[in-house]
Amino acid sequence: MKQAILTKPETIELSEVEKPIIKDNEILMKIKNIGICGSDIHAYYGKHPFMSFPIRLGHEMAGEVVEVGSAVKNVKVGELVTAMPQEFCGECEPCRSDRYNICDTLEVIGCQTPGAACEYFNVDASLVKKIPAGMSAQLAATVEPAAVGVHAVRRSGSVKGMNVAVMGAGTIGNVTAQAAMAEGAKSVLITDLSDYRLELAKKCGIPHVANTGKISMKEAVKNAFGDEGADIFFECIGIGATVNQAIECSKKGRDIIIVGVYGSNPEINMAWVQDREFRLIGSLMYVDKDFQDTIDYMSAGKINMNPLISKVFKFDEYPEAFKYIEKHKNESLKILIEM
Ligand SMILES: [Zn+2]
Ligand SMILES: [Zn+2]
Repeated sequence: MKQAILTKPETIELSEVEKPIIKDNEILMKIKNIGICGSDIHAYYGKHPFMSFPIRLGHEMAGEVVEVGSAVKNVKVGELVTAMPQEFCGECEPCRSDRYNICDTLEVIGCQTPGAACEYFNVDASLVKKIPAGMSAQLAATVEPAAVGVHAVRRSGSVKGMNVAVMGAGTIGNVTAQAAMAEGAKSVLITDLSDYRLELAKKCGIPHVANTGKISMKEAVKNAFGDEGADIFFECIGIGATVNQAIECSKKGRDIIIVGVYGSNPEINMAWVQDREFRLIGSLMYVDKDFQDTIDYMSAGKINMNPLISKVFKFDEYPEAFKYIEKHKNESLKILIEM
């Protein structure tokens, strides 16, 4: 079968390899779509702190089940599925408290173990989720990033009835804003420096958008929520400046959820965090319930990933897809590969 390996920075090599033989607890997926995500791009440039070469990428996937192991009960041959890319121990303290997304020895498929950038992919059936009828393989490959948003909006408990401010309208910011709507937020504001990304957020039904290159975060919050202000902030960019903006614009005693991935260690206004009793809460990936609920939200039209799919490349064009992203950074939200 064909596979794609990231062998060194900016080099993806297509090669032929034996089709995998599945274990009793595994299924074999004939891959239909995989997604390229921000972490893949970091890896592509050799800038991902927890990834090394060579690696077969692909942690966002959709495919048809073509073989099931003798112990597999949850899926059948012929079904369209996606899989959670988390390999966890099940024994450490986070795992024992159902927080396996932060397992002490977590390995992410396509990051630390071989991913789905291949024709046939074998995966443990417990990680596999059935895709409901009517949902395409392209959309199925976007469940993974969408689930990051669903998990994020649950980190503070519930956003029900809240005015929610999301900073950053890339894929993760967008899905966080949509997840907040799906989980009963009163209203949602999303901010970015790119009008293009804000337009996409509008298309996804986010009620308030603001370009914080043109107006201040304070003004954006005021325009969206009036005197009520924002009840919770989600930082989905990964830079100190926006964390500090959230700290400056938040009502006292509120939560700021850190969803963005930080390339460096910024200086944060901790004096205000202490004085105003803010809580800074991290958010990483998702757990099973977040993932299943994401599928259900997408199937019910409560999370709409269609506007986020910027372009679809054929598998043979996998290296070109990365070149395209380099040239079209602002207009590339979700780039998919199709087999
Ligand atoms: Zn991803
Ligand atoms: Zn564990």
